[in-house]
Amino acid sequence: MNLETFSFEIDADGVAHAVFDVPGRSMNTLTGKAIADIIAITNEIATNDKIVGAVLSSGKASGFCAGADLGEMGEQAGGKPKADMSEAELKKAQFDRGFSLNKTLRELETCGKPVAVALNGLALGGGLEVALACHYRVAADDNPKLQFGLPEAKIGLLPGAGGTQRLPRLIGVQAALEHILQGKSMKVDKALSLGVVNELAPAAQTAEKAKAWVLANPDAKAPWDEKGFKMPGGVVHRSPGAGQVATMANAMLAAQSYGNYPAQKNILSCVYEGTQLPIDAALRVETRYFINTQERPEAKAMIRSLFLSMQALGKGGNRPAGFEKTEFKQIAVIGAGLMGAGIAYVQAKAGIPTVLVDVSKENAEKGKDYSRRLVEKAVKRGKTTEAKGQALLDLITTTDNYDDFKGADLVVEAVFENPELKAKITEMAEAQLEPGAVFGSNTSTLPITGLAKASSRPENFIGIHFFSPVERMGLVEIIMGEKTDQATLAKSVDYVLAIRKTPIVVNDSRGFYTSRCFGTYTQEGLSMLAEGIKPAIIENVGRQCGMPMGPLEVSDSVGLDTALKVGRQMAEASGIDYSGNELGQMMAWIVEDKGRVGRKAGKGFYDYGDNGKPTRIWPDLNSQIDVKVDECPPAMKTELTNRFLVRQAIEVARCFEEGVITDARDGDIGSILAWGFAPYTGGCCSYVDLIWGIKEFVAEADRLADKYGDRFRPNDMLRDMAAKGEGFYDRFAPAAEKAAA
Ligand code: NAD
Repeated sequence: MNLETFSFEIDADGVAHAVFDVPGRSMNTLTGKAIADIIAITNEIATNDKIVGAVLSSGKASGFCAGADLGEMGEQAGGKPKADMSEAELKKAQFDRGFSLNKTLRELETCGKPVAVALNGLALGGGLEVALACHYRVAADDNPKLQFGLPEAKIGLLPGAGGTQRLPRLIGVQAALEHILQGKSMKVDKALSLGVVNELAPAAQTAEKAKAWVLANPDAKAPWDEKGFKMPGGVVHRSPGAGQVATMANAMLAAQSYGNYPAQKNILSCVYEGTQLPIDAALRVETRYFINTQERPEAKAMIRSLFLSMQALGKGGNRPAGFEKTEFKQIAVIGAGLMGAGIAYVQAKAGIPTVLVDVSKENAEKGKDYSRRLVEKAVKRGKTTEAKGQALLDLITTTDNYDDFKGADLVVEAVFENPELKAKITEMAEAQLEPGAVFGSNTSTLPITGLAKASSRPENFIGIHFFSPVERMGLVEIIMGEKTDQATLAKSVDYVLAIRKTPIVVNDSRGFYTSRCFGTYTQEGLSMLAEGIKPAIIENVGRQCGMPMGPLEVSDSVGLDTALKVGRQMAEASGIDYSGNELGQMMAWIVEDKGRVGRKAGKGFYDYGDNGKPTRIWPDLNSQIDVKVDECPPAMKTELTNRFLVRQAIEVARCFEEGVITDARDGDIGSILAWGFAPYTGGCCSYVDLIWGIKEFVAEADRLADKYGDRFRPNDMLRDMAAKGEGFYDRFAPAAEKAAA
């Protein structure tokens, strides 16, 4: 055998040992070559009479296998058919390709010889599916990083190597669906109690134990190949309990995802149908659903954004090359309010000594209280120990004295949003800094180039824009001022990675990238309100198209007084009579006449309960609206969905044309992590490239512009991209990829 990713030998007892060890990688993945090797190994085990049984194991300390190689898969998913194939040929070729690993694993399972697997560490996705096709699984009990799971659904895929069929047959439909639909992984104890693994042993002994089992069980069979096999918990269509599980799961899925995620719908159908069939037929059903899922644009979009781009940015994909990585010895945070307190916490959590500065030591201590509360909660929930919590708190020094952070590597200011105050802080802080140290402003609205005017070293001045609540939001938007240099950018990216967040890099502009584009979603909702669309319809469609909240609820949480102010400013800037138009009148009425300024006041478009959660849309809102649309048939839902999503993507395109943003990965990840743009689309750029296609998107935006106004009109850049058939990932590929092309 000519193997590249496995070593293979037969020992003196006739046991074959196949050790998975992809060269040059720290973790095994199922590349095309690895699958070819598994096919060859299976054939050898089945046909070589000298082999009495087999043990699969891993040559990597990190674990057995992390699943399919998504880099390869991202290239293939949703790929265009070859022009010279008939539809029937194409379907057959697709099925054969999709079925090959599935078929091989079934051959391994039925080869008539016992096969056991030694799981020294994690087994995820295809890695777990290979393990489930073995007759016996021995897992390490001394590897804290070990986890098992089928996470495919999280990136728009369906486990396609038997996972949707073997897991329910092993642990029951309900438990299996919980893990497959949510992509939830399990630790080793849970895996043992559910029966996903059969035995535990120290990692170094797992292969030995697996071999002992193989020798002791020459007639091994999978449980579902035993006569009289019964599905744990019953078969869906025959047992009332299991039948209920399927009905409930369907309803819950619809409530959570509004049918936006084809993978989850397919998983449910696949488990429902497959578990009623003999395993061989069931595996073929799985492959059909697998292919259907993989072909959806959502799968390609989610793999590319949620896995590949996230991973690339998480490794500093947008960091300029040629600068040494910064190790942070001390970082100061000035302003211990809502944001500063959160920033201090995430720094200390990452082990960075932090000086938290405010106008008085007392104020700074109040800011530190935020960390104390978070630590206390984490200890209570068993997420950390008292000692670790205390060590985190000890890293935060509170002060009102700027001398206490002399020589810090970086300063983040998070004082009030006031340019004069920020200018003063900049001067005072810079007096403490060595050359090359970075001054970052967490401003949410003030242009960085303007703020940098107060700096004596504008090349080291940069925007470091966090989102609230800091400890929960995964994104940080780094904003380059006109004079910010590349060394400062590299250090800032290092900082964001050090505090375990994902950085995107943008250029200076009002509202930067995220606030500017996000605002278009709420503005579109307000326009719909002014047109007479019933508030409940606006809110429901907003959520149903994949946004985390309806636009009116978002407006409430930002503050309706702020929305009114911004609306007036924008109208003035573009010469519109805001007080004379329906939207301006509505906003003035609710804010100034009714005093309903949003969630902070407990009343806005919504009424709020004591816990700050919305209870209902304020009923009197309808009294001010001339309701013209109070029903939402499917065509109306599509129209409103397109208005919401196309409008945001048009603003994103404008940001690219103006050079505010320059890398499609930043565009996608920023849109998902900052404002929750419908994740099944892969983000704003992938929404255009993959869900619509550039030409179709431009045509739809033109249609909407003709009907609702020029805010939808595609810019010249989009027209040029459509003419050339280029998507965002073609035109705004990462700099390194562009250079290589
Ligand atoms: P905040 O009002 O909660 O806190 C501001 C803090 O700055 C207060 O503790 C105040 O005492 C302190 N401060 C004022 N003058 C100071 C001085 N001279 N020296 C030291 N400290 C001083 O405000 P916040 O919501 O935390 O916002 C801070 C910054 O972050 C603003 O620029 C804001 O635009 C930006 N921001 C806010 C959010 C948000 O959701 N609140 C999100 C992103 C960015």
